[in-house]
Parts: sequence; C-alpha cells; structure tokens
Amino acid sequence: MQKQDIRSMLPEELESALVAMGEQKFRAKQIFQWLGRGVVSFDEMTNLSVPLRNKLAAAFTLAVPTLLAKQVSKEDGTIKYLWAMEDGNTVETVLMRYHHGNTVCISTQIGCRMGCTFCASTIGGLVRNLEPSEMLNQVLFTAKDSGQLISNIVLMGIGEPLDNLDNVLRFLKLVNHPDGLNIGMRHITLSTSGMVEEIDKLGLHNVQLTLSVSLHAPDDKTRNQLVPTNRKAGVDALMAACKRYFERTGRRVSFEYAMIDGVNDTKEHLEHLVKRMQHAGGHLNLIPLNPIAERTLGPSGKSNLDTFTETLRQRGINVTVRRSLGGDIDASCGQLRRRREKERVT
Ligand code: SAH
Repeated sequence: MQKQDIRSMLPEELESALVAMGEQKFRAKQIFQWLGRGVVSFDEMTNLSVPLRNKLAAAFTLAVPTLLAKQVSKEDGTIKYLWAMEDGNTVETVLMRYHHGNTVCISTQIGCRMGCTFCASTIGGLVRNLEPSEMLNQVLFTAKDSGQLISNIVLMGIGEPLDNLDNVLRFLKLVNHPDGLNIGMRHITLSTSGMVEEIDKLGLHNVQLTLSVSLHAPDDKTRNQLVPTNRKAGVDALMAACKRYFERTGRRVSFEYAMIDGVNDTKEHLEHLVKRMQHAGGHLNLIPLNPIAERTLGPSGKSNLDTFTETLRQRGINVTVRRSLGGDIDASCGQLRRRREKERVT
C-alpha cells in the first residue's frame, strides 16, 4: 500500500487514520500542530511515545523540502528561495516585507501549461501539480528559515492555481486551520490567468480569499496573443465569470495588468480598459513588465504608465502601480528555477 502524505491531511482525516491504527483520537490535534510548525521528522513530536512515532513513520510520508538556493535583496529585504521537492523537482517561493506584514508568494505547480508569452514559468511546460503539503511547506519553511512571522499569502508564484484546484483548496484549509498557521482567508490572494470554468468552481466553494485576475489586455485580439488560455472563452466570458464570482462570494475581483511596450499600452487599449473596469468595479494593479531573458517583450515607458494611471484614476477606477520588490534578485517568479534548469542542461 502506498504511504499517505501526512502533511496534506486535515485533522479529521488524521483522527480517522489514528483510530483505524488503534490509537486515540486526541493525538490527531497534537500531530497536526507539530506538522504546522514545520517538523522535519516524527522524532520531533516529543509529546508522542516513541512506539507511536515509529508507527507514524511506517504508515506515512513526511514531505520536507531541501533548500537549494536563497537570494536576499539588498534593496528591500525580499528573499527568494529555490526548494527541491522529494522527487528533485524545484519550486520558487518569495518572502516580501511590507509595512502591513510579511507576505509569502508561493508556487502551485512545477512549471505551467498556460503559455503566457511574457512569463518565465511556462517556458518548459507543466511538469506536475504540487501537493497540498508542498504548498504548505513553502510557507512553513520560509517562515522557519527567515525567522519571520507570516501574515499574508499570495498564490502568484510558478503555476496556475486554478489548474490545480483540488490541491489548492486543500492547502487553503490546512493553512487556515486554527490548529495550523491560522492565516485568515482575507489575508490570502489567489492570482489566475483567467480560467473561466474554474473561476465558477472556486466561486461555488465560497472561500473568502481575494481573487485576482491577470487581465493584461481588454480585447480578445491582444489577450489571445499574451494569455493563450483566453482563446477558450474570451474576455467577455471572463468578465462575466468575475461578476458571477462577486455575486456568489460578495468578494470583488481584482485585476492585474502588466504594461508591455507597444503591445497593450496604446490609447485604444486604455479606452477599452477603462470601460471594462468601470463595468467590473474592483481594484486594478498596473505592473511594469519585468523583462525576462528568453523573451523580447519590454516594459512600457514611464509616460505610458503615467497616462494609464492618471486616466484610469480620473475615470473613477481604483488603480495602483505595483512597487517592484527584489529587483536585484531575479525579480519575477520562474526565473530562478529557469536559470537552474538551464545550468543543469548545459
Ligand atoms: N498563473 C497565475 C499566477 C502566477 S503569475 C496568473 O497567471 O495569474 C503571477 C502574476 O505575474 C500574473 O499576473 C502574471 O501575469 C504576472 N507575470 C508573469 N510574468 C511576468 C513578467 N515578466 N512581468 C510582470 N508580470 C508577470
């Protein structure tokens, strides 16, 4: 029989498993608390007897990531981690220090199959989904290594969270649990390239996180080119799904717009974007594109960025420009892993 991954299990599942093993139910809470503190072996669970620890080790696997690389920004204290999973695959995690608290940006997949033309994470395609424990471990071990308290989580690293929805939902339950890290849903943001059916599925679960859609273009012609998944349903259908999401959850959707020189930053794009945003409501985050080595696309100039910001603001849109953190350390996600993969090949 295949061993179960214990850090992906919820307390009630641990309870049933323990009862089936002839153990007492209350042990589940103790074990879950240890797991949520980032233990690396069952022997650290010192309030359990040695025979029980041995029994657990025989019945379950305990996922522990290995730290492969760590970059600390001298500019703003951002820390970027590259972890190896048990099977040798690698993922990135970023710790960002804001005034309102520390935020961890986690990866949800190994690679990505969305194919966005400006993004480093998708270049090698999708390798596999991350397990709930592998997402949780990014938070736990980032906290452990940095010695920092984590107050916010963003699912904005490598991968498309809605393409791994079941594991992401389970991760949310684990991280939100009062006996675990107890991070409130309102402190969690999930960023998606805009998978329409999955936005509806997420809406049905009514988790109170912030859903952020990577819009990047207001029209199908431009968006099809930048975010190929748009070809499935189109911008109209995406915006309609966002509206349904709001109606179901009471949580307004946010939008991200990476400004790319000559691609999505013309006056026509701006006018269209204003209309889309006036209709949708919600917050818009403009992000100057982070140039990546493999792509020729570049960020919009300052004057275009200013024109977008001012016009949108004047027309009543709640718009901010994302402050870029960690510019000196392989800024956007996917780049550190990508470089490592290239080094392995060459
Ligand atoms: N797959 C999800 C989450 C991961 S990407 C999504 O698409 O939203 C997180 C955010 O970074 C997305 O808004 C994505 O479009 C953006 N992004 C990716 N590469 C970028 C780059 N080179 N410059 C700026 N933003 C980028």
